[in-house]
Order: sequence, then structure tokens, then C-alpha cells
Amino acid sequence: MTDAVGPGPVGDDHSPVDASEAMKMAALIERSLAGPLPCVSCRYDLKGLSILGVCPECGTAVRATILAVVDPHAAELQPIRSRWGVALGLIVWVVGALFAMTIVCASVARDWAGAGTLGLVPAEWLLSSRAVAACVWLSGLGAVMLVRPHEGISLRHRLMAAAAVVLYVPLGLVVLHLGDLAAESARAGAVVGVAPIVEHTIWRLTAFGLVLGILIGLRPNARLLVARSLALRTGRVDRQTMLAMCAAVALLILGDLITLLTLFVGGLLAEFCFIFGMGLMIIGAILLLIGLIGSAVDAARIARAVMAPAPGLGRVLGVGRGTKSE
Ligand SMILES: [Zn+2]
Repeated sequence: MTDAVGPGPVGDDHSPVDASEAMKMAALIERSLAGPLPCVSCRYDLKGLSILGVCPECGTAVRATILAVVDPHAAELQPIRSRWGVALGLIVWVVGALFAMTIVCASVARDWAGAGTLGLVPAEWLLSSRAVAACVWLSGLGAVMLVRPHEGISLRHRLMAAAAVVLYVPLGLVVLHLGDLAAESARAGAVVGVAPIVEHTIWRLTAFGLVLGILIGLRPNARLLVARSLALRTGRVDRQTMLAMCAAVALLILGDLITLLTLFVGGLLAEFCFIFGMGLMIIGAILLLIGLIGSAVDAARIARAVMAPAPGLGRVLGVGRGTKSE
């Protein structure tokens, strides 16, 4: 069986099984270049030349340029209609989340460093939680882009992403409520996190659960965009960052649950539970922060790839899907 679907190796001596395939092949080979294509060695625009020709400036075979610049996966990638929308959404989504997490970590760290006397005052907790909620909602606004960045995404994945976007609403509200609770205990002179408060823990677990739901829901479509960048060979971004962040949130949940055990056991065991649980939460928070920083770097890379994708063979030759999206 000869594979007559793609253009095949240029200039290869094919022996096609029927005449129509041979005609198709011949038409493809004779076709001149439809789009702008700078020569791989001298950047001269090869537009209009035959793919069997050579660069008039430096003599490099046109085929060499095609092999060098064409993205072999471009035809598999669905065209993105709103490149600006997707790129901007991606950045806002990740940066919003990174800012939210940074403010949370900074607030908690400062409160601990102050150890009650110099820790955050109620007004600061309220301000901090409002800023976090605003960043969370901004991130959710950016995530809207992930529901359908391009055509050809399964209904299941679109629904998962849509559900994840909806979860941003309660997440912001829970953050605001946690801020109120923290302000309340600060008013009472307590340092948040020195002894577990069941109500706080329950709301924190709710927030962690929502974050987990958001990560799981957005992951399939986010990975589609990662694949886009991979195919363009702009970087090795397939680091399973979102899966790692899920694990980090799981650590936060586990740690919080273990600290809660302090209320049910006594003595040394309670102390151990508290220290161990807190340790897990600190590690989880740091891992989540690192994951978000990595995501921000990846998002910038992917946004760049979305804005300036490499051409596919179809676009260069003026055939196939790549041309009509422009
Ligand atoms: Zn040239």
C-alpha cells in the first residue's frame, strides 16, 4: 500500500496504484509555493517558485527550506480563530493564579513571622483576601478561553473546562470567607495556623477541593495548547505541570486533615500530628507556587507559539486546511 494521503517525500519515485493518485501527486509536486517562505540559508522569499526549484539567490534547494521550516504537525493542529484571545486568556489565567497564590503565601508567612503580636491585623487579612479573590476571579476569566480555544474539541472536554470555570466563582467566595475568618481570629489575638480551628479547616479544604476540581477540569484542553507549542518545537514544555500541581494540592488537603487530628488525640501524638500536618502543608504550598511559576513560563512560551505558528506544508503549497483559516 502506498500512502497517497500526504504529499509524500518530495521527488520520491512513487509507483502509485491508480492513475488518479499519480495525478494528485504530480499536481502537488508542480504546485508553486503559495505563501511567503523565506529561504532557509539566505532568507530570500521563495514565494511563487516551484517546490522542485532552487533559491535564485543562493542556490539552496527549495525542498531544503520546506523541510527546515514546515511544522509536520501543523495539519493536525486545529486553526485558532482568535489568536489574541487565546494568548491573552492563557496569560491572564496563569498570572492571576500565580498572584493569588503569592499573596496567600506572603500573608501567611508574614503572620507566622509576626507570631501574634506583629502578625497581620484584621484589616490586612481582609485586604489580602479581597486581593486574592480578585486574582482568582481574574484567573477564572482567563480560563474561559480554555473551554473552546479552537474547533474539534470533544464535548466532554469542553464541559469539563466549563465546569472548572464555574468553580472559580465559589472559590473566590470561599477565599473571601476565609479572609473574614482570619480577620476574626486576628481580632481575638489568635495566629491563624498555630492551632487548628475546625471551621477554618473545613473552609480551607473546600477551597483546596475547588482548586483540585479546576485543575482536573482544565487540564485536557490546557494540554492541547501545550501540544501546540511542542509541535512547534519552541520548547520542551510537556512537564506535566498541572498533574504536579494536583499532587501539591493533595498534600495541602492531607496536611490540613492531619493537623485536624490534633483535636482528637492528646499529648505528644497531637504535637506530632500538628507538626507533620503543617510540614505537609508548607511543602504543598511551596510545590504549588513552584508549579505556578513554571506554568507562567510555559504560558508565555505557548502564547508566543499561538501568536506566531510555524506554517504547515499545506499552507506553504497552497493546499489543505491551513490556508482558509487566514
Ligand atoms: Zn537562498
